[in-house]
Amino acid sequence: MKKPFGIVVCFLLVSPLVFGIERFPPPDFAPDYVFPSSSQTAPRAAAWMWIDSLALIVALVLATAFALKWRSRKGLVWLSLASLAYFGFFRKGCVCPIGAIQNVSQSLVDPTFAIPLVVVFFFLLPLVFAALFGRVFCSAVCPFGALQELALVRPVRVPSWLDRGLRFLPYVYLGLAVLLAATGASYIICLYDPFVGFFRMSARFHIWVLSIAMLILAMFVGRPYCRYLCPYGVLLAWLSRFSLRRVTITPHECVGCGLCRDACPFGAIREGTRVGAEEKG
Ligand code: SF4
Repeated sequence: MKKPFGIVVCFLLVSPLVFGIERFPPPDFAPDYVFPSSSQTAPRAAAWMWIDSLALIVALVLATAFALKWRSRKGLVWLSLASLAYFGFFRKGCVCPIGAIQNVSQSLVDPTFAIPLVVVFFFLLPLVFAALFGRVFCSAVCPFGALQELALVRPVRVPSWLDRGLRFLPYVYLGLAVLLAATGASYIICLYDPFVGFFRMSARFHIWVLSIAMLILAMFVGRPYCRYLCPYGVLLAWLSRFSLRRVTITPHECVGCGLCRDACPFGAIREGTRVGAEEKG
């Protein structure tokens, strides 16, 4: 837990530099002057950035404890619902680590591009947790993942040839998103986000079509966006390969029959997973 703690301390120390708002108050106008209303979204209050960052830390720590220490599925479900309510519907899906890929990409190639520290924080912290404890962010913190799990009513098994083929898509999507953001052309992850429309109850027509199609798909295919599109999932998967701790399947009861592999609606348990073998010796 030392690395996340170090990042949090750095964040707390330098964030006041980023949150320096209203340094120049507006001049005194005549009393009858009417300020025009802005057509742009108002900047977030600094307090919300602190609260969001704190909520992310708490959620990641709880997800790690539920998954690795307490092994509580019920705890993970409740945490997913809370994350969906807070990061999804209440904070309207922004800041989001998935979209932050684009801000980070652009800031790396364009020195004039200013990236808010809270965005860097949201981008990095789930990755740090993935490197230490596996994909705890996906397990119960990401509102996109939670929404897809809620939608799943009748899971069907994706044929392995199709599953293997589609698993390349997130790499393509990640490459394209980084390229377009780095060149300043477009933020496609945000443009074609299939879930934010639900959180904000507002989207353009073609995004509604995409969102509803994705939700219908999620009723039958476990987490289709996570498995076949999410570009952030690629980064999490890379880092989680080196994680110090990871989830094991009922290490003391497993007989290695493979039933769980066949039943998992997310295709997360792979062939050859020798469940619990090491612990039994
Ligand atoms: S794979 Fe992507 S969308 Fe799915 S839970 Fe993880 S970060 Fe969220």
